[in-house]
Amino acid sequence: MNRLTSRDILARLIAFPTVSRDSNLALIAFIRDYLATYGVESELFYNEEKTKASLFATIGPEDQGGIILSGHTDVVPVDGQQWTVPAFALTEQDGKLYGRGTADMKGFIACVLAAVPDLVQSSLRWPVHLAFSYDEEVGCLGVRPMLANLAQRDLAFKMCLIGEPTQLKPVLGHKGKLAMRCQVKGAACHSAYAPYGVNAIEYAAQLIGKLGEIAAERAQPQYHDSRFDPPFSTIQTGLIQGGRALNIVPEECEFDFEVRALPDFDAKTVAHTLQTYAEQELLPKMRAVQADTHIVLEELSAYPGLVTAKDSEVAALIASLCESEEFGTVAFGTEGGLFHQAGIPTVVCGPGSMDQGHKPDEFVSIEQLARCDQMLQRLIIYLTNPKTT
Ligand SMILES: [Zn+2]
Repeated sequence: MNRLTSRDILARLIAFPTVSRDSNLALIAFIRDYLATYGVESELFYNEEKTKASLFATIGPEDQGGIILSGHTDVVPVDGQQWTVPAFALTEQDGKLYGRGTADMKGFIACVLAAVPDLVQSSLRWPVHLAFSYDEEVGCLGVRPMLANLAQRDLAFKMCLIGEPTQLKPVLGHKGKLAMRCQVKGAACHSAYAPYGVNAIEYAAQLIGKLGEIAAERAQPQYHDSRFDPPFSTIQTGLIQGGRALNIVPEECEFDFEVRALPDFDAKTVAHTLQTYAEQELLPKMRAVQADTHIVLEELSAYPGLVTAKDSEVAALIASLCESEEFGTVAFGTEGGLFHQAGIPTVVCGPGSMDQGHKPDEFVSIEQLARCDQMLQRLIIYLTNPKTT
């Protein structure tokens, strides 16, 4: 096979419409076949329905853990967006490559794959692992079974590079997120007899007020971490519904809230505090009126935060590879939190910008793609250096 450039590969990857709700198996088959032509074997980790898979492959010594190059293969939908170029075909215009996923984050995967011929020909001191997941955009789901499997191996993975778009600046952290749904079931009655009913909306309002109190507490200066913006954990309620008519005491109310937590704050403590408040303060009052009432909290999705020390080996290495010591944090979440939680030091650094991610006419510049190719070439030089241990 003629050697493909990162741009050639990106054109192939963009043509697979791997929106999270759909299968990514055709794309995974393309990557597996591509790797096979260089003698690299792939392991696939399927979802339960066998409609999607993550791919894991190792190049170099197999008896030790090396650097994981990680990316997600799914993209967000284009429904309702006004694209002026085709979303699932690569278009070049003014030094930019357009298409869904060019920035977030098939551009990085394309660069990694383009480096494979060089990787396989080099005497790597430690291995390079490719880890490509599915369902990142819907809660970092697909990477979890793969990580669970990797955790069982006797390989101490040295570090992980997540190629989410950061304009090739090393990102050392992001907040974690917990999304929750709260259902309040009260008791309906004619509004003229309101005290004989249990007003689900009013109890929901008290719960939301409690969340506000917890949020105000977390915003206290002693909890600040200036590496993040805002520098504290935040809580917000984003969706609520309840009630049928003004003259009926509402029986049901449901609201969704999220916690954006600093990496050292466990977002689940917010859910526990709310649960305790519900059980101790609200439910006794509700049940004094009507026994068959309840408050149920349900987790919708969660991923942990990421924080990597500036003076860590991975931070130093990635900074030298991308030639930037502008360490930062990002507002968006990544799979990095899960690698971090698994004890693998992680940095996020990839081509393109999240300013273009998830939007119509998403693009990555040819310059960013070329710089990412160079970053990976520097990685190969580092990994073949006899001084690398
Ligand atoms: Zn992404």
